[in-house]
Amino acid sequence: MANTRAYAATSPTSGLAPYSFDRRALRTDDVAIEIDYCGVCHSDLHTVENDWGGSQYPVVPGHEIVGRVTAVGPEVAAYKPGDLVGVGCMVDSCRSCSACDSGLEQYCLEGSTMTYGSLDRHDGTVTHGGYSDKIVVSERFVVRMPDKLDPASAAPLLCAGITTYSPLKHFNVGKGHKVGVLGMGGLGHMGVKLAKALGAEVTIFTRSEAKVAEAKKQGADHVIISTDKAQMKAAAESFDFLLDTIPVAHDFNPYLKCLKYDGTHILVGLLTPVEPALQAGLLVTKRRTVAGSLIGGMPETQEMLDFCAEHDITCDVEMLDIHNINEAYERMKKGDVKYRFVIDMKSLKDS
Ligand code: NDP
Repeated sequence: MANTRAYAATSPTSGLAPYSFDRRALRTDDVAIEIDYCGVCHSDLHTVENDWGGSQYPVVPGHEIVGRVTAVGPEVAAYKPGDLVGVGCMVDSCRSCSACDSGLEQYCLEGSTMTYGSLDRHDGTVTHGGYSDKIVVSERFVVRMPDKLDPASAAPLLCAGITTYSPLKHFNVGKGHKVGVLGMGGLGHMGVKLAKALGAEVTIFTRSEAKVAEAKKQGADHVIISTDKAQMKAAAESFDFLLDTIPVAHDFNPYLKCLKYDGTHILVGLLTPVEPALQAGLLVTKRRTVAGSLIGGMPETQEMLDFCAEHDITCDVEMLDIHNINEAYERMKKGDVKYRFVIDMKSLKDS
């Protein structure tokens, strides 16, 4: 067992504060990691504030983890002390169902074990995430960070990167496709960079005029201000895919109208009911599809990291001292992040 310093929320309204707990002793296939960086995902905020229900307190969030291996169990073959590795949103799954056999552990038929707020399948304890100085994870759920990528700005690839890469690959997005990305936050700005690298023509839909110049810098070919009815009307029936990262209930109907016939609206941001109601006629009359997608499996996560290294893609990050995490959450609620906070875990070690 290893004493671990962390930040945790103890209730939906407590905010985050220093907390300590013991990480488990190494199992035979485990990798122990000293955490250098951890990204701050909107899912952390949803879980801390119990937006999805079922949060188990104390919550130690964090699933965009980069660090160095400090020790390995006797059956670990791929990693050794000193290696730079990453851990994303999952730390375990049943490993034997059809989804796990296909490398789609996120769709494990028994339910995958998430990096925080899940019950460990072996000892029943609640998993704790990367707002902490160390973590212990089975080798199967560890990825290798490419040397070429800056580790701090690569940390959010472990969630924001794979969550946008996986549906783009699944739907074979590439040259000749017009892709709209809804919401320019952590996931959205990665969606722009990845869709662009895959060869698509990319448009960002944002509420904010202030983000126009930066969206273009990140590679967006066009920007639509989603609150401007005239701009939305002008975009009617022009997109093959929409990648929707908006984290709260929003009206799908104006966006559906922007899809061509046979177009697909891919949801990654919303996990709660659709409000206001979706107009089925907009689907039926144009054979449009609404789809969803959850993070990505372990082999695809490694593939995405290697793709990012090859194309020189990382996240735009604001480095964060962990003591300022509550202020960072307030800014994230206002969409005021450029475009991902990443905690420098030295700030925890130094405290
Ligand atoms: P961010 O807060 O970084 O970005 C969300 C963006 O959505 C904002 O920057 C803003 O963009 C836009 N937005 C926010 N509120 C509204 C609103 N009321 N109406 C319209 N647009 C809005 O969040 P993340 O990118 O970290 O996460 C996005 C969502 O994806 C979260 O719900 C998260 O839980 C979910 N998620 C899903 C995963 C999956 O596997 N499916 C994995 C990880 C996260 P702008 O200012 O440009 O309008």
